[in-house]
Amino acid sequence: MNTPLPPMKYASVLVIRCFKKVEHFADWITGAAGPVFVFLCWVLIGGGGFAFFDVVARDLSYLGLLVLSPLLTLVPLNMYGQYYLVTHVPPGYPAPKASGKEDKDIKWTMAMPWSVWSGEKWGFTKRERPLTSGGVLGSWGGDEGPGETGRRVRRCRKCDGPKPERTHHCSVCKRCVLQMDHHCPWINGCVGLYNQRHFVLFMVWLSLGCWSVCGLGYRRFINTFSYRAEWKAYTPKIGFTLVYVLCIAIGVAVPVLASWHLYMVSKGETSIESHDNAYMEKRAQQEGLIYLNPYDLGRRRNLELFFNLGSGGYSPYTLLFPLVIPPASNGWAFPRRPLPTTTAKIPTSSLHAPELAEGLLAARTHGDHAEDGLSGYVMGDDGSLTDDDEGGGGWMD
Ligand SMILES: [Zn+2]
Ligand SMILES: [Zn+2]
Repeated sequence: MNTPLPPMKYASVLVIRCFKKVEHFADWITGAAGPVFVFLCWVLIGGGGFAFFDVVARDLSYLGLLVLSPLLTLVPLNMYGQYYLVTHVPPGYPAPKASGKEDKDIKWTMAMPWSVWSGEKWGFTKRERPLTSGGVLGSWGGDEGPGETGRRVRRCRKCDGPKPERTHHCSVCKRCVLQMDHHCPWINGCVGLYNQRHFVLFMVWLSLGCWSVCGLGYRRFINTFSYRAEWKAYTPKIGFTLVYVLCIAIGVAVPVLASWHLYMVSKGETSIESHDNAYMEKRAQQEGLIYLNPYDLGRRRNLELFFNLGSGGYSPYTLLFPLVIPPASNGWAFPRRPLPTTTAKIPTSSLHAPELAEGLLAARTHGDHAEDGLSGYVMGDDGSLTDDDEGGGGWMD
């Protein structure tokens, strides 16, 4: 029987459709405005750098220049270098473009030891990776290390391409992105597996740059308000006032963002996963279980793997230069934490959240303690919750 939709139901369908339209428009605007944002960012960091050397560094004594020389060279080198890299190195994709057109930027994700941007060119070589499976370092998805994952790879609902664990579909880029963190208009692209290192380091060096302007240019900033003060710089006084005020604003906002990202990295999660993990943690708590993030190998190891340092990685000195350092994972398999050996309290009631049941099953089959599967811990599996893009929350639909 064909009954017409009740008015309330009809209205809600209409509202949802409207939201979808607005969402699509927002995605389109984000994509279209991307190049403007990148241009603006170059103008801002370029103008800021020029004003600093023109107005502030001009006043420094020889001794001051000598003492501050590491700051005066490394900050601009890394700020411009990392921004160039974060806008050129692609985030990494599990499949080629759907249009069949070749990816021009894909070369950045391959080994280029001859390139001036490669660590190898400057003598930074990767250390031998001991023990990648089992033990405290965590085991890779499969037992054979990256690439040999024994798990079935899902397909993307939107682009129908392969969707390895931690991959998400970006509705602005219109394709799947490996270990997607978020879509960033300031770089006109996604932040993911291959460029997140550059993204975080750029924020850190940008913060240092802003603080340098604020700390060393304080007297000059005061001078801009006085008509009598001597002004030899090419930069007009009003220009420097503007640069200084922007540096205060950016020097507060960006370090907060950078710290937040580093905090998430230290927990072994991306921006998208942090939403999911918070949700799962709450649900698990309600069931009397303890939720574990499978990619959390401990604060130190998470940071080491993210920057690809420490055992099996590169030298920590690579953080001081704008170099392309390949990620520790290939994006198809990631090291996972083992289940704790201590047994937590078993919940007596049956599970009310079906999402947790899936994680429990995963913990039982993937954990080292298969026999005592119901140990009170529940491990997230393969990010099956967030099947959506940017910012997470896709579990709601
Ligand atoms: Zn996709
Ligand atoms: Zn994107």
